[in-house]
Amino acid sequence: MKMRILDSVLLLATVGCVYTHAQQPAPNSVDGHKLAAQRAAGLEYPGLLGRLCVVTPHKENAPPRTPSSAARRPAPDRASWYAPPFKVFDNLYWVGTKVHSSWALKTSDGIILIDTLYNFASEPEIVDGLTKLGLDPATVKYVIVSHGHGDHDEGANLMQQRFHAHVIMGGPDWDAIEKANPMPGGTPKRDMVATDGEKLTLGDTTVTIVLTPGHTLGTLSLLFPVKDQGRPLNVVYSGGTAFNNQFDADRFQMYIASQRKLAKLAADSGATVLLSNHSEFDGAYTKARLLASRGPNDPNPFEVGHDSVARYFTTSDECAQAALLEYK
Ligand SMILES: [Zn+2]
Repeated sequence: MKMRILDSVLLLATVGCVYTHAQQPAPNSVDGHKLAAQRAAGLEYPGLLGRLCVVTPHKENAPPRTPSSAARRPAPDRASWYAPPFKVFDNLYWVGTKVHSSWALKTSDGIILIDTLYNFASEPEIVDGLTKLGLDPATVKYVIVSHGHGDHDEGANLMQQRFHAHVIMGGPDWDAIEKANPMPGGTPKRDMVATDGEKLTLGDTTVTIVLTPGHTLGTLSLLFPVKDQGRPLNVVYSGGTAFNNQFDADRFQMYIASQRKLAKLAADSGATVLLSNHSEFDGAYTKARLLASRGPNDPNPFEVGHDSVARYFTTSDECAQAALLEYK
């Protein structure tokens, strides 16, 4: 209950206004799209709503990655980001920080790792986290990097060099990281370039890769199955969320098209679990901790249902439409 009250307060604080029936904005207006987003987000996605409908869209939140800034930037205090690892489903493990997520999908023939965090976090969270969970990091066969930004790709080189894992990224993001300066942790060598609809099978598990350009031009999203206490569920993983300083009108249109494409694929696959790579958007850190006190008949907090999955994408779609109108 405390969570719900907190969420409500956050939601109202971030959106900043509540419309009455007498003052409905036109549907295709900035306020109309923001109201639609607010309704879709409900009490479940205040972070998504806040980031996409409230934060000024043309400001990149992450600092640019240059060798000088990366070298000078000290790793933040561990207490501010370290989170213990958690088992989330029978075959899915969360090895993220309080802010960023890395997911380990265990198959009958090794692990598919999704995202690799900042360099400072990749060893303590991923390598040590998997070990703490009783998993061997040397069994990671594939590393899927959702997109080429430091909070998701800086651990890729470690996994490639130390454990000989294959690294999969979108083509434009391989290009971008190769053109940029060496990243903290080292730039991984170009390996597998993702294609749209590609099925990556390892052992008994198949991940479907979906190209969802927008946040970056090579952003990857995913569809894959998990089991919760033996019950099969389908996951949709959204690989890039925020608008940034690369956005112009065409980029907003591209982003909107990707949200709609992924929303349809999620609905068609029957996805009832929505995952992201920032806890801000999917509540992963909070939900993972809630699982620790899960009773035998309690639902898994990550299983949000078809309607909630659809509303997640409606929120991002509507906020992007509002931002596009603001941009024009
Ligand atoms: Zn990013």
